[in-house]
Amino acid sequence: MEFELSDEERAFQQAVRKFGDKTLRANERRIDAEGRIPREVLDEMAALGLLAMPVPTEYGGMGGSAVLTELAAEEIGRGDFSMATAVFFLLEAGWGWSLAKHGTEEAKREILPPVCQGKTFLGIATTEPTGGSDLARMRTKSKRDGTGFSVRGEKAFLSGVEEARTMGGGHLTLTKSSDSDGFNFLYVPTSAPGNSTQKFTNMGRMGISTGAITYADTHVDRKYLLGEEGHGFEYALEGFTVARTFVSAACVGAAERALEVGLAYIKERPAFGQPLAKFEGIQFEAVDLYAQIEAVKWQCRRAAWLLDRYTLRGDDSHRSEVIKAVASVKLTAPPIAFETVKRVMMWFGAAGYTKDVGLELGLRGVMSYLVGAEGGLNIMRIIIGRELLGKEFAPY
Ligand SMILES: Cc1cc2nc3c(=O)[nH]c(=O)nc-3n(C[C@H](O)[C@H](O)[C@H](O)COP(=O)(O)OP(=O)(O)OC[C@H]3O[C@@H](n4cnc5c(N)ncnc54)[C@H](O)[C@@H]3O)c2cc1C
Repeated sequence: MEFELSDEERAFQQAVRKFGDKTLRANERRIDAEGRIPREVLDEMAALGLLAMPVPTEYGGMGGSAVLTELAAEEIGRGDFSMATAVFFLLEAGWGWSLAKHGTEEAKREILPPVCQGKTFLGIATTEPTGGSDLARMRTKSKRDGTGFSVRGEKAFLSGVEEARTMGGGHLTLTKSSDSDGFNFLYVPTSAPGNSTQKFTNMGRMGISTGAITYADTHVDRKYLLGEEGHGFEYALEGFTVARTFVSAACVGAAERALEVGLAYIKERPAFGQPLAKFEGIQFEAVDLYAQIEAVKWQCRRAAWLLDRYTLRGDDSHRSEVIKAVASVKLTAPPIAFETVKRVMMWFGAAGYTKDVGLELGLRGVMSYLVGAEGGLNIMRIIIGRELLGKEFAPY
């Protein structure tokens, strides 16, 4: 067993931390206020190889391992506390990887290089207005129409609808097949005739939009079908397993940053004649948070290590172990991150409630992962429960 990062991994981690400390921290308020990630930030990410980094080099990515991508996600979650950049990063990483694995050669050559350059956006569309957890009951349908598929339905709460509309790009879209009992996973360009979009007003991660897409018999060329017809559900679940690892890593980064801010503050802030850090009531809280963040960080790195060892190699032999590891960290990382930011806000007293201190930025951002982005907490519990107890004990 080896817990030490390799020289290459450490150097990469330091380079991304430098980017986070210099570029992301300097821009996070602007990202929140302007509701977009500035062009120069995306350009710098592209230059560092951070966009869709697990995508193979032949399609413009850096062919990065899951561990390397996990390290980058931690640093980006630390750097832009609003989580907007982390979301942009992990969507491109997780779903870029999925497209690279299952997409047709033509689609990969067309879609992936500009995504890796930050010129276009690639997202995921599974959730519908009637629900995101119970995906099997989705209503959006795709039907063969000669040269491809005709898609009809509506997806909602999708990250990056505005980005895909304005920059170009689209979403990997899970649809029920009208021609079989299965599902088709299709790349749908947002600008395709038949699509209309809507933007929602969120409470946080303002730098990346959330919105809806309505498909009114949108024609999708057959080249945009991922893998085999009817097997889309499997590909989407596999993609979630990869993307959720990076979500968790971003939460680890945000938690570490909040704790660092808090530790510095309680060492300085006096109360009753001594620094707050001297009071066990505060110090023990800080220690508990540290211990929990460390636990989640290593849980997350192990999940990434398992992905590298099995999933990213197309080896399904440890499927249950991988699924449990990833769902477990997606279950623990967002609550720990949220709790850390909340506790540190409380150490700051009234100042913690101001925008000047900036903790609210993290609180609003991390909250998106508590309410459900990339799957709600109870859904992680259902996934783990099914693996632990067997399918016969699944609640549905
Ligand atoms: C900021 C943000 C960005 C998002 N980005 C995307 C995106 O890019 N693409 C995309 O497709 N979706 C996206 N989503 C949607 C997200 O995937 C869904 O919110 C999530 O899957 C939950 O679906 P829902 O919101 O419809 O809640 P519901 O499915 O209605 O569930 C509501 C609540 O009930 C819980 N619940 C559901 N079923 C059970 C059960 N059987 N037992 C116990 N509890 C249960 C859920 O965990 C949740 O807490 C995003 C969401 C947010 C908040």
